[in-house]
Amino acid sequence: MAWRCGGQSNSELIANLAKAHIFNSELVEKAMDAVDRANYVQDKTEAYEDSPQSIGFGATISAPHMHAYASEHLLPYLRPGAKVLDVGSGSGYLTAVLHRLVKSEDKANPGKVVGIEHVSELAEWSRQNLKNDGLGETLESGEIEIIAGDGRQGYAAGGPYDAIHVGAAAPTIPEALVQQLASPGRMFIPVGTYEQKIIHVDKDENSQVTQKDIMFVRYVPLTDRDKQA
Ligand code: SAH
Repeated sequence: MAWRCGGQSNSELIANLAKAHIFNSELVEKAMDAVDRANYVQDKTEAYEDSPQSIGFGATISAPHMHAYASEHLLPYLRPGAKVLDVGSGSGYLTAVLHRLVKSEDKANPGKVVGIEHVSELAEWSRQNLKNDGLGETLESGEIEIIAGDGRQGYAAGGPYDAIHVGAAAPTIPEALVQQLASPGRMFIPVGTYEQKIIHVDKDENSQVTQKDIMFVRYVPLTDRDKQA
């Protein structure tokens, strides 16, 4: 179903995803409408297909319907002014969508998204993608920050995070990421090697941590830089 949701333009792609009932939230639909996927892919002729695409270094930009699901699962924690960590930020596409969801006019609390990516070439490319998408000032102000490093360690300096998105499948849930979740906060993380599933890791106001299995998926592994194809 989702594979037939592509279009000739970004707005057509988003409209077709909406027609296929991929969105439950208009906020997510609007945020994805504001991020032109052509700025985050290598093959622009397939920018508006609802399919994953290779971005080199053994990495892929996920299919738009997966980005929509991830954003919607984190949405209860994505208020304006929230802090978000995007682990395995790859192309920077979802980092940009998350930014659209948490940015705020409140200068004291502008909202922040940290993307962490262990392929330094991809980290650099994603900064360029964000600039091409009109988010250069956001990078300068620090509302979006792209770090080249091992996402399994998180980025404690930017936390605690209201929401953590993990874009690659971890064999087990990295403890550092659980620690860096705010109270309350939610992590959306694919877990597993052969068989993978999305897990919500929720931390409540009293720092109690619970987990919930959401759905079976197929992601590239969250791994060591030198083990990645
Ligand atoms: N959300 C990204 C997904 C990219 S694919 C997008 O849609 O563009 C998963 C990414 O995780 C890859 O870019 C890969 O290089 C990165 N990755 C894998 N293991 C990692 C690790 N230990 N630390 C940081 N990034 C990692």
